[in-house]
Amino acid sequence: MTRHFKVIVVGAGSMGMAAGYYLARQGVKTLLIDAFDPPHDQGSHYGETRIIRHAYGEGREYVPLALRAQELWDELEKKSHLKIFTQSGAMGFGPKGNAPFIDEAIASGREHNLEVDYLSGAEMKERFPGLNVPDDYNAFYEPNSGFLYSENNIQAYRELAEFHGAEMSVNNPVVDIEAFDDSVKVITEKETFTADKLIISGGAWNKKIAAKLDLDLPLVPSRQPVAWFEANEKLFNSNTFPTFMVEVPTGDTRAIYYGFPTFGGCGVKVGRHEYVDAIDPDTMNREFGSDENDEGHIREFLDTFMPEASGKLKKGVICIYTRTPDGHFIIDKHPEHSHISIAAGFAGHGYKFASVVGEILSQLAVSGETEHDISLFKIDRPSLKEASVNK
Ligand SMILES: Cc1cc2nc3c(=O)[nH]c(=O)nc-3n(C[C@H](O)[C@H](O)[C@H](O)COP(=O)(O)OP(=O)(O)OC[C@H]3O[C@@H](n4cnc5c(N)ncnc54)[C@H](O)[C@@H]3O)c2cc1C
Repeated sequence: MTRHFKVIVVGAGSMGMAAGYYLARQGVKTLLIDAFDPPHDQGSHYGETRIIRHAYGEGREYVPLALRAQELWDELEKKSHLKIFTQSGAMGFGPKGNAPFIDEAIASGREHNLEVDYLSGAEMKERFPGLNVPDDYNAFYEPNSGFLYSENNIQAYRELAEFHGAEMSVNNPVVDIEAFDDSVKVITEKETFTADKLIISGGAWNKKIAAKLDLDLPLVPSRQPVAWFEANEKLFNSNTFPTFMVEVPTGDTRAIYYGFPTFGGCGVKVGRHEYVDAIDPDTMNREFGSDENDEGHIREFLDTFMPEASGKLKKGVICIYTRTPDGHFIIDKHPEHSHISIAAGFAGHGYKFASVVGEILSQLAVSGETEHDISLFKIDRPSLKEASVNK
């Protein structure tokens, strides 16, 4: 017999698992389905940690969501036995007059009266002696931000969702979805389920999943290397050094490098935040080092800006960003089926919002609306159809 749920979540990763928790906590009969066994190394949450910052270079509209997300992470920390967040602080810097991302982060901090120190490169070097920054760079430091343990946090939401009665169906890819006026049928490799409401949060697979509901979403998954390096533990540990976002001019464009301090001897973790060619998540080369730039770009950055963190490569992994043409997320209802919500296109900056996105998705599923302003993330906005801007 086909089992029926109030809500089915397709894709129990960063966003979906949080949604499952906020639904189950309200007593909503919820099923979470995943192709793997989350957290796992195929998802966009892979690689242990994610930065959370409140001053926001991708647009000041994100600040209220970042602050609510932080509240929810702090709440999760109290409820879980797992480590959720480390308040290492967060900083950013870039060349004055040629770093729009850093400028916007600074403007967002001022507009929202965030606790942020606005500094020059010279002041930054004095505060963090491991840094090698030109004196006239623009910089900011926020003491209340830091990093999240992405894999732990999914595990924490999973445990709490199950505690509140949510069911999990793992290692069970969804292969088809049928939408009716007031219900859905979800066909997986192992079983078929039905539900009143559906949430689609399939990360890098969202384009393929949405296509089953006749939606052609402009989502582009891309391959993203990230690596850990031996570093001077005194200068770069999470008690003395914050997470960082650094905007570096490269020819006629800019690259953003991001990273994390070392803790427990893991090394300094660094990645290059950029959008490269589209990949298929089912066939992408997941071997770190198969492209010489996997380490090369990051090594160049460390040698220039943090030479004492440019030690031996300890580990490298490959992960996936999924971006939209305008760089903003999609969080909305299906244009023709209001009982189906979609959360997609979280690119390289979505994890920090997973807690609040889970809250939003649970509200959309229960009442059809949310208390949060998600107008930036509409599925039918014109800028989703425009040419890519490298956000
Ligand atoms: C290297 C890297 C660094 C990043 N750094 C940061 C950072 O510092 N700060 C930040 O905020 N964000 C960061 N991000 C972005 C953030 O991690 C992602 O935006 C976020 O994890 C996306 O969440 P998601 O729920 O969309 O995807 P996922 O977490 O991947 O979840 C999607 C789930 O859907 C499942 N699924 C797929 N297809 C199916 C199917 N057919 N049936 C059932 N289940 C299916 C998958 O198995 C997966 O578990 C980074 C991303 C990467 C790759």
